[in-house]
Amino acid sequence: MNEKIRLRFAPSPTGPLHIGGVRTALYNYLFVKKMGGTLILRIEDTDQERYIAGAESYIIESLKWLGIEFDEGPGIGGDVGPYRQSERKSLYGKYALQLVESGHAYYAFDTKEELDAIRTEYEGRKETFRYDGITRQQLKNSLTLPEEAVKIRLESGAPYTIRLKVPRDEEVLINDVVRGEVVFQTNELDDRILLKGDGMPTYHLANIVDDHLMKISHVVRGEEWLPSTAHHILLYRFLSWEDTMPQFAHLPLILRPNGKGKLSKRDGAKFGMPVFPISWEGKNAEDSFEGFREFGFMPEAVLNFLAFLGWNPGTEQEIFSLSELAEAFTLDRISKAGARFDFEKASWFNQQYLIQTDNAELGQLLKPFAEEKGYEVSDEYLTAVAGMMKERVNTLPEIVETGYYFFEPIREYEEKMIRKKWNPDRQTALLNLNQQLENLPEYQAEKLEASTKEFLEANSLGFGDVFPFYRIALSGTTKGPALFEMMEALGTEEVKKRLLTAFPAFDEVFTKKINS
Ligand code: GLU
Repeated sequence: MNEKIRLRFAPSPTGPLHIGGVRTALYNYLFVKKMGGTLILRIEDTDQERYIAGAESYIIESLKWLGIEFDEGPGIGGDVGPYRQSERKSLYGKYALQLVESGHAYYAFDTKEELDAIRTEYEGRKETFRYDGITRQQLKNSLTLPEEAVKIRLESGAPYTIRLKVPRDEEVLINDVVRGEVVFQTNELDDRILLKGDGMPTYHLANIVDDHLMKISHVVRGEEWLPSTAHHILLYRFLSWEDTMPQFAHLPLILRPNGKGKLSKRDGAKFGMPVFPISWEGKNAEDSFEGFREFGFMPEAVLNFLAFLGWNPGTEQEIFSLSELAEAFTLDRISKAGARFDFEKASWFNQQYLIQTDNAELGQLLKPFAEEKGYEVSDEYLTAVAGMMKERVNTLPEIVETGYYFFEPIREYEEKMIRKKWNPDRQTALLNLNQQLENLPEYQAEKLEASTKEFLEANSLGFGDVFPFYRIALSGTTKGPALFEMMEALGTEEVKKRLLTAFPAFDEVFTKKINS
């Protein structure tokens, strides 16, 4: 156990956790496992306007489904809790005041209406307003108002915010583990709000205070937070916490499947793929999403796929269990370049996991998908179907979709082969063979195969004379699983029934051919 390595995943419950957030959680998890550190879940819920009920439990359920476990967090406990920022509200104010007292922050009394009016005025001139080192000199704050006026305002309970006083003409250097040295000019930075009118800290203040109090050693988060990091570094400096400041690692963007632009939540519907871990029921259809879970993905496959979105082990190996990933993971192999969200690759990963998963386990995973379709079958049957179909599909629901014929009558017979080779005379051979197989002491794949071979030899027939028709009769297609395995799963009665149902249909195709 390395007590110095402490990482946190700090989602805001402002909606369902996007797949990019899951990747962030995963990388935090992998690094902690690799180093023997501690992983913290911290819920950053200080933005009450954007708070969405149900988002926190969504986050927790998603991570649980995926198998990403935390050492400290809401509902888990730990020495530096509470782990929900709203429950730490009283803690942040004093740091904002400390910054005001040391001259690194100030009270701003401008109302929302006043600031909106200024913004509109700027927009009229095609400029963007920024509350910064220049504009603050003309605005209503404790830097411009006389001391007495400030005092009166504060005592009378006038609303205010506390803003960071970003120094002029300086450079802020970030030594990012992924991006190397990144330099920001302070003249480009705005005076971010630290404490809001409602007494709640903003993300920036709460994040820095908590990372400090929770002794966070590494901040691994999405690239969209890189610009804010300049403000964060100033905060560490002004609070005299620079010595213990965490190391930053900003993860590359996740791009659309076509490589054009950042992947967004709307891209799921657009590209027919999930971009969330599990389903989310929004206010309307547009804001409701199906997740990887509902698409029939296995959590291990999703994690394996996500691990490779922005990281690679430097070898050819692609299939990694979660513990193997942790073993192989290093921050220095995270790439700077955006990572394309290739859904086909995700499907490939899932197929690999389907293939390597034990059939009985797959049968259990398949159950909800079969039940959803109203199929009532035994566990044993599901196990057999999963075993036969797993190499032919990418996801679990595809097993019940492509392999529907294991659960209901054939919807359609593939005509091509019937047209080409069927002849009503073949019925007799098929029925005789079927009879012989029915009489076997054991209706089992290998025995069925051996007996079929004997039958063909004895009757001077070739495989091609019976196989394709048998298969089409049982599954509607020649592309299904191996014939004898299908027969074993379906059983003698069903096989017979299917043969007898198929013959008239085959004959009909034959008649059509003759008459055309
Ligand atoms: N609450 C922020 C988010 O929702 C956390 C960013 C960070 O990790 O600092 O992504």
